[in-house]
Amino acid sequence: MGINIALDGPSGAGKSTIAKMLAKKMQYVYVDTGALYRSIAYYVISKGVDPKDSDSVVPLLEDVNVQLTYADDAQHVMLNGEDVSDKIRTPEVSMGASVVSAIPAVREFLFALQQNIAKENNIIMDGRDIGTVVLPNADVKVFLTATAEERANRRFKELSEKGDSSTYDEVLRDIIQRDYNDTHREIAPLKKADDAVEVDSTHLSLEESVEEIYKIITEKTAGTKQEGKRKIRQLPKVDPVVKGKKLSPVKMFFYRILGLIVMGIFKMYYNLSFEGRENVPTDGSNIFASNHRSYTDPVLIALPTRVPCTYMAKEELFKQNIFFKWLITAFGAFPVTRGNGDTAVIDTSIEKLNSGKNLVIFPEGTRSKDGTVGKGKTGVALIAALAQVPVIPVGINFEGKLKFRKKIIVRFGKPISPEELNITSANPRELKRLKGIIMDEITKLVY
Ligand code: C5P
Repeated sequence: MGINIALDGPSGAGKSTIAKMLAKKMQYVYVDTGALYRSIAYYVISKGVDPKDSDSVVPLLEDVNVQLTYADDAQHVMLNGEDVSDKIRTPEVSMGASVVSAIPAVREFLFALQQNIAKENNIIMDGRDIGTVVLPNADVKVFLTATAEERANRRFKELSEKGDSSTYDEVLRDIIQRDYNDTHREIAPLKKADDAVEVDSTHLSLEESVEEIYKIITEKTAGTKQEGKRKIRQLPKVDPVVKGKKLSPVKMFFYRILGLIVMGIFKMYYNLSFEGRENVPTDGSNIFASNHRSYTDPVLIALPTRVPCTYMAKEELFKQNIFFKWLITAFGAFPVTRGNGDTAVIDTSIEKLNSGKNLVIFPEGTRSKDGTVGKGKTGVALIAALAQVPVIPVGINFEGKLKFRKKIIVRFGKPISPEELNITSANPRELKRLKGIIMDEITKLVY
């Protein structure tokens, strides 16, 4: 559970601009919940339905999939796979959002999504009912206000700069109407939570408002029993690996020869076949993420590759005997200490990728005896996101125990690219999403 900061207040009080600045300053994730209501309104309007017609709006929710993603430090609203972040900022959609947000089914629809986002990250969430309904246990609650005239002034300036032709009077009328809608709706109306601190920004500049709220947050979060945990978490820096680094021709030659010999031995001993070999990149600096069935897995994965692989192996394996240590090291293993958040292993992994080698990871961490694929850990996503390299999912299939003439099928899936998925930071939520995709793809390759 991260630290949750709820920032509520009426339309145009400056919540989103201030929340964005605070999130940046504090390395928190900014969650703009208004954008969720806006995307519903946008969808309803695009279907030719009147937002006021709740009987027609509610069935449309079944076709809606809204997600918040983060790229380049900014929140993006994805509506059924389309980035609608800009399209939802028109006055028509603003008013539509204000109307659909009074429909209980719409609020219910978005409730779990907002709570789930808050569960895993340090967040600043802005909206109308965050401190009262969505996050009643938020660590800090701020209620930001300003007079309707001042808010209209700011919004009018913003819209004019964007080339919108609305007049000041229209903007003021809209604000007053939305205030009325927000405060008079039956469900989750806009109101200050009892334990929220009110900040009136009418006479404050943007910077002054940010400072004021920052002070409230630091005061409220200091000295609590979880102080240690409350340190602002710095996301590790993305440091893309430059692909195309060539290993020495001598090494490559021996790797090929070794590969051919081991392939011959394995094919004689096992009934071994490969599927999806076309998905195995011919270059290096890729991650292969596989289910884990036996100690031979690293070799099975490496056989169809043209570039040497390295893989993480339990530290204990290096302490067995000298010969075993030499063998696994020759096959590219490097030690990982489990269970203590070994960060050096991340650096070593990225170093290996940078050297042009492939990296084999078993995200489940341990071998699966019955062949089912477990949930997996986020480490694989962290390395892929930091290094910005493709992940090739692998499914290793055989029944029972490995023995002579056992039928083994090794399947390679299509590369998963963090860049194509718009995952450009080590944001915990994005990493979880990437890990989910990787594990789903591995599962599809295992029968
Ligand atoms: O904050 P923003 O103006 O983008 O929100 C659009 C509309 O969504 C608001 O007018 C409000 O009616 C609704 N909303 C809400 N509850 C939230 C966030 C926004 O009802 N938590």
